[in-house]
Amino acid sequence: MSDLLLATANPGKQREFSRLLQGLESRLVLPQQIGLNLDVPEPHPTYAENATAKAAAYALVSGLPALADDSGLEVAALDWGPGTRSARYGGPEVDDRATFILELLRDATDRRARMVCWLALAIPGAAPDGTARSPRIELFSGVLEGAIATERRGEGGFGYDPIFLLPTGLTTAELPEGEKDLISHRGQAVAAALPRLRALTAMAP
Ligand code: IMP
Repeated sequence: MSDLLLATANPGKQREFSRLLQGLESRLVLPQQIGLNLDVPEPHPTYAENATAKAAAYALVSGLPALADDSGLEVAALDWGPGTRSARYGGPEVDDRATFILELLRDATDRRARMVCWLALAIPGAAPDGTARSPRIELFSGVLEGAIATERRGEGGFGYDPIFLLPTGLTTAELPEGEKDLISHRGQAVAAALPRLRALTAMAP
């Protein structure tokens, strides 16, 4: 059984990945379990580049295959932002970014939004002389279409979930645990990555 390092310190993402990858017979390693506390900058304009930077950094430091997620909320009325800037949107003085978006959209009639996830799988490699070489990167993605609610609803999930409205009328924070995984941007990206992860860990489907 091989190990797979989850290249994120975000507790919400760690919870979701632990559920999404529980059928995988490799051991899922969290950074804190091996004393890793990397602060990888995310300056790039695309999710793919940011996810790649995170996965590559964790794989290089640990020597383990690493799976990183870069994700975000895209809102029509905000020119499809904040996107890759979702985690920092509004700056350090904003402590509740979901409520911040609700305020910005108070009078908006076009409330279309989507959540986007890109996963980067970094597979460490060694040069013939045994020194580490840049990890090989594979990318997977998923998108969940919805809208921005007019008020916060629900206690589940994390981040923008209490304001992300599904076509069913529920927010993603109102879904029972596990149900978000079946439809979410992250769930779709993991589903796309699973065959590769299974092959990597040499486990049967
Ligand atoms: P990053 O991928 O570390 O740049 O952070 C992405 C940010 O987007 C998170 O901190 C959340 O604010 C938001 N986000 C990403 N995925 C989700 C989700 O599934 N639910 C709610 N918010 C999310």
